Order: sequence, then structure tokens, then C-alpha cells
Amino acid sequence: MPWYKDRKARFAPFSDADKQILIQQVPLYEKLPDDLKQQLHLLVNSFLHRKKFYGCQGLVITRTIQLTIAAQACLLLLNRPTHEFRKLKAILVYPEAFIATHRQVDANGLVSFSSKELAGESWGNGRVILSWDDVTKGAQHINDGKNVVLHEFAHQLDSEDGATNGAPELPSAGAYRAWANLMSAEFAQLQQAQIHHLYSVMDYYGASEPAEFFAVVTETFFEKPSELKQRHSELYALLCQYYKVSPDEW
Ligand SMILES: [Zn+2]
Repeated sequence: MPWYKDRKARFAPFSDADKQILIQQVPLYEKLPDDLKQQLHLLVNSFLHRKKFYGCQGLVITRTIQLTIAAQACLLLLNRPTHEFRKLKAILVYPEAFIATHRQVDANGLVSFSSKELAGESWGNGRVILSWDDVTKGAQHINDGKNVVLHEFAHQLDSEDGATNGAPELPSAGAYRAWANLMSAEFAQLQQAQIHHLYSVMDYYGASEPAEFFAVVTETFFEKPSELKQRHSELYALLCQYYKVSPDEW
């Protein structure tokens, strides 16, 4: 689209009614310092202008649904010189957890199908799928480290360099090396914690694969920042560097 149209949408005033929706739906929004709130308004405007929402199973997409999803997704973009989730085109929203059926082909070429109930899913081909029920729960409980929007949109960032492998786009080869070293060590530590049933500030689901580790660690970073900083200070510092915010100060 022409740049001037995007610019107009981006700088459109953020109405009091929209702010009220964010205050009610996304408690993290109220905790943000004023300058980040202003930035978030611009990012949300731009997001809503560029991305399409589709209701599934009869769900009607409302302003509340759009704002609740966009505001949480855009928390990941604050202070960062990024084009808003540039591969993403559409957000599909189901009323509740949905059944996803995936086709698998094993080493012998045998095709099988498996079905799972999911709260969210992120695809490299430009789609994020969410359960509205889980979006609402994730937004309301801001200290439990579980947030399906932050999780799925972290997968979007991860996929932007072509591979969804736990490393998003980073500025240099050195930054990739530092990321890989620390993330591999933390991933291995979480796997050990799961095997030995030890407490971890991060959900065990992050131990399933590096891509899930990055998504889970993103949820933890925004929802349990102080504890993450205290228990995994290097990891917290790396994420502050990447996300360019310090949620423990909010
Ligand atoms: Zn995931």
C-alpha cells in the first residue's frame, strides 16, 4: 500500500473508547510507562491497518477482539526498528480452543494424521490462529507466564529469517553466536529441570524444542520478569537487548 496511507493510519488518534478497551482487556497496558503507551498506540494502529482478522466457527470479530490481540502482539515490537510482523497477513480467531489436524509423513513415506486441541498456532505462511477464550485468559493473568498471543507472535518473529528454530533475526553473526550459546545452555537446563521434576520459572513446554523455548521464554520475560531476572540474569539481559524493553521496571 502507498506509504502515505500507512502513515495516516499509523498516526490516527487513539480514541478514549479504544484506550478503555485496552485498560479492561490488557492489564499489562496500564503498567507501561507513558512513552511506551504512545508507541503502542501507533503500532496497534498500523497493525490493524495491515493485518486482516477472520472469525471462525461463527465468531464475529469485534473492535475488542482486534485491540486485545493487536496490543499484546505489539508489546513485542516496542522500541524496535521493525516492520510489523512482515510475513503475517491474517489472524484467524476461534471462540474457544480448536482442533488442529496435521499431516505427517514418516521416513518410509507413510502418511498419518494427528489431531490436537490448541489455544494457538503460528504458521510461517502468514497466519496466526488463536482461541479467543485463551487470548482473554492470557491477557487477564499477567503474572502466570502464560500468554498465547505473546507465544504465537514470538513464533512469527522467529520465522522472519526463514527458519523457525528459536533464533529470530539478529543484527550480526556475533549476535547469532551469542544467542545460540546462551539459548542452548538454557534450553538444556530446562530439559534437565523437566526430567528431574525441578522447579523452573519457565514452563516445561519450552523444553520440547528450541522454537518453543524462545516462545515460552518470551511469555516469561513479559509476565514474570523479576523472577526471570533473578534466576536467569544472563538470559534476562539477552532478552532485554533483543526486545529493547525492561518489563521488570513496569
Ligand atoms: Zn509454540
